[in-house]
Amino acid sequence: MSWEPVIGLEIHVQLKTRTKMFCRCAVGFGAGENTQTCPVCLGFPGALPVVNRRAVEWTILLGLALGCEIPGQAVFSRKNYFYPDLPKGYQISQYDLPSCINGNMLLPTAEGDRVIGIVRAHLEEDAAKTVHVGGRSGRIAGADFSLVDYNRGGTPLVEIVTAPDIRSADEAKRFLQLLRQTIVELGISDAEMEKGTLRVDSNVSVRPAGSAELRTRTEIKNMNSFNFIARGIDAEVERQIAAWESGGEVRQETYDFDAASGRLTARRAKEEADDYRYFPEPDLVPVEPPAELVERLRSELPEFPATRIRRIEATLDLDRATVLVTGGLDRLWGETVSAGAEPVATANVVANTLVGAGVDPAAVSATELSKLLEARDRIPRGAFDEAIAKLADPGFSADPYLAQESVSDTTELEPIVEAVLAANPGQVEAYRGGKEGLLGFFVGQVMKETQGKADPRVVNELVRAKLGE
Ligand SMILES: [Zn+2]
Repeated sequence: MSWEPVIGLEIHVQLKTRTKMFCRCAVGFGAGENTQTCPVCLGFPGALPVVNRRAVEWTILLGLALGCEIPGQAVFSRKNYFYPDLPKGYQISQYDLPSCINGNMLLPTAEGDRVIGIVRAHLEEDAAKTVHVGGRSGRIAGADFSLVDYNRGGTPLVEIVTAPDIRSADEAKRFLQLLRQTIVELGISDAEMEKGTLRVDSNVSVRPAGSAELRTRTEIKNMNSFNFIARGIDAEVERQIAAWESGGEVRQETYDFDAASGRLTARRAKEEADDYRYFPEPDLVPVEPPAELVERLRSELPEFPATRIRRIEATLDLDRATVLVTGGLDRLWGETVSAGAEPVATANVVANTLVGAGVDPAAVSATELSKLLEARDRIPRGAFDEAIAKLADPGFSADPYLAQESVSDTTELEPIVEAVLAANPGQVEAYRGGKEGLLGFFVGQVMKETQGKADPRVVNELVRAKLGE
């Protein structure tokens, strides 16, 4: 029997507002532990919350970008549970009446647009950060003691819940890349997984391919990169298929995925919503966004990444278009092509060379980049790479690099090629014995000998000719 994965995602996005969700403490990294706190976010008795207007507006903005309806009324509720990182003993969240509902996001694929449903996006406050000291890999098990930093406590957090519409680990990854780019472009969060401003939990089940049933799902937590998420989902799908096929069953559990070992470890039985005893927060009135506000926010929406992928795909292909858009590189690409550069070559250089050199695409002049691309076959490879790496430097000019000539004179290059071949008799023998992939090695050695000044195409021909002798 063949099986079909059924995957839904819960994504937490920390908003980069200046202040916290219900108090005026600053939001931000790097401050000394427990310095950004006050009676409200430390949960002192009698302290009263005040809603952060900007956080509400940004949540609506995100909801609109995800095609959601914005109900006329949203209500904050108390989600009750006890944990050291939650000093009030409850988290203020939205429960039955969230800010955004019933949306969807288009995911461009080779087989057309996939529609991923968005069940809801709601606003809540983040918990504080607990650090376990002395244990293995920061887990509580085996730790000597734990510390709590309340700076993060009360930071505005949007939770996005997708429908179980995702059908593979790869699709989950591509959805997340597109969602992340959408969030970053709205300017509401840095959405960086390494910093914890974007956190993803995956709900995974499997079912016989073609059926519409929903079997028991499990949740995978604590994955801090899109690749780990994809690997964690793959591992869980495999585990569940093996369980069903061996006559066993899947229990509703939460797992941690350890990327180093590729193993899933069960954490705890999942709480049901009933366990949290939700009730409306008595200290806050419902949020009732005026229609004019919603319409103003709607008018501020930029062109969506998915739309841009489809537009750019017409010139390039889906994969290149996706890499450019989800990498935030498509604006530079478009401007460089408008300045006269060839589209595919530009896409490759921008997505590989430029990103590889750690250059900020927003600081690059498209005009200078297009000049370099135009001269690429004429100037030394080393000069080209160096120029790309310096593109974002203030006042960068391509001119000094364009003045350099690559060495294409065979009489000058021949002795260098011969010396390289003579210095690597083993590789020469292997090449002649059929390992033709070594051609690149010889060319690379010659490029190195000439400090990148040789014309690689001429070197290629020379090496090929010499080895054929
Ligand atoms: Zn505070």
